[in-house]
Amino acid sequence: MIDNVIAIDGPAASGKSTIAQKVSETLSIPYISTGNMYRALTWYALQKGLDLNNPDEKAMKDLLATAELTYAKAGDKFEIRLNKQEMGPLIRAPEVTSHVSNLAAMPCVREWMLDKQRSLAKLGLIVMEGRDIGTVIFPGSKNKFFLTASPMVRAKRRLAQSGETTDGSTIESVAREIEERDRIDTTRKTAPLRKADDALLIDSSDMTIEEVVNKIISCVK
Ligand code: C5P
Repeated sequence: MIDNVIAIDGPAASGKSTIAQKVSETLSIPYISTGNMYRALTWYALQKGLDLNNPDEKAMKDLLATAELTYAKAGDKFEIRLNKQEMGPLIRAPEVTSHVSNLAAMPCVREWMLDKQRSLAKLGLIVMEGRDIGTVIFPGSKNKFFLTASPMVRAKRRLAQSGETTDGSTIESVAREIEERDRIDTTRKTAPLRKADDALLIDSSDMTIEEVVNKIISCVK
């Protein structure tokens, strides 16, 4: 049993990063977004001109051989870097968002991420969020949560986050983008998005951030 990883999984825009960040602040422990790791690699692949609409395993393997993904401590936060470059807002670009699920479905990419994500447990008590933390990365974790919310609530929340959507986005267009990402994430062969049998399901549609955070913290304690 692993008891130092708080694993939070769930579909796109279910509030995982907001909740995970608050849990990390409240408990003063590191917060790791595995989605940001896939996003950083997507940004890099696009920079290198890979066609992520028709991804090719050989081209991706060559790319992975040239990619170094690290977390650097910046104050009390962790900053993700690819080949030493800070990612910051680059990984929130709509072009990254619309291609990340295709890249994340590739078996060679998931294999490449596995050890990197598992090794972050050496940081001590951490909160890690993603799609397969409770099922594949830390299936032995005692603290698993699956966060969800209704499609409309998720689309509204995503639209309210500045910089996450293109100008002119509507609730409908954002809902379609979320739905498409969820479709790819749940139907891929390797490590599809799903709730671990022993994860606690939290539907946050009618809950405040504080309520969700308190529920997670009280379960962990
Ligand atoms: O969490 P976020 O929405 O930033 O994740 C971006 C994408 O990264 C997801 O839509 C999914 O395709 C991929 N991802 C994944 N496994 C994880 C975390 C993210 O496949 N553990």
